[in-house]
Amino acid sequence: MFIDTHAHIQMHEFDHDRIEALARAADAGIGLMITVGYHLEASRKAVEAADRYPQVYAGVGIHPHDAGTYDDAVEENLRNLAKYPKVVAIGETGLDFFRNRAPHEVQVAAFRRQIWLARELDLPLIVHDRDAHQETMQLLQEEAAQAVLLHCFSGDLAMAEEALARGYYVSIAGPVTYPKNELLREVVRKVKTDRLLLETDCPFLPPQAFRGQRNEPAYLLHTAQGVARVLGIRLDELGRLTTDNASRLFRLPS
Ligand SMILES: [Zn+2]
Repeated sequence: MFIDTHAHIQMHEFDHDRIEALARAADAGIGLMITVGYHLEASRKAVEAADRYPQVYAGVGIHPHDAGTYDDAVEENLRNLAKYPKVVAIGETGLDFFRNRAPHEVQVAAFRRQIWLARELDLPLIVHDRDAHQETMQLLQEEAAQAVLLHCFSGDLAMAEEALARGYYVSIAGPVTYPKNELLREVVRKVKTDRLLLETDCPFLPPQAFRGQRNEPAYLLHTAQGVARVLGIRLDELGRLTTDNASRLFRLPS
């Protein structure tokens, strides 16, 4: 069994076939998934999906693209949503200095407050970091973030090493299957063991076999096969390992 630790099945891309996509995921051995919010409405929808489908859990948070919307009222809404027992994380939050849809200082402020919120609520933090590796790692340290998941990891070996030294979890997505992404495969070899997680980030970032198409939770299996090959372990071993890791981090029922 595998857990997709970062999906967005609440998005409209799944409105026409959500139930079928969830069934395909189950057939592929994806037993659980965490559907992740990125603004307040998406966080609400994530909680609704968790309420509707037994295999779905939720994260609630404000993505750096929407950092400009973060204020006391939004935070209070997130706090209330997080009371729902199937909300297992704050996020996704973080920094995106690639698209820069919000000014850097606005992103930093919203990220800081969500690190505090995660600490206050004793929930793990799902971190989005694009072209902001140094700043992300610095803020997490400054604000003493507790349980951290670096989602869709795109840093280098030194960053992976630092993340492990701090006890952070590192999540690997479809790009590990891209022929050119040898760096991410090296990261996988470094992270292996007890901090490694798998995700689709669907509908984005499909693995190599589905590039150009909508990604979905069932395709996690392709990413898992790629990672198992890199590590030279059996698929079922990888499943056990990453499921244990995700269950520990998100305190999922066994
Ligand atoms: Zn995402």
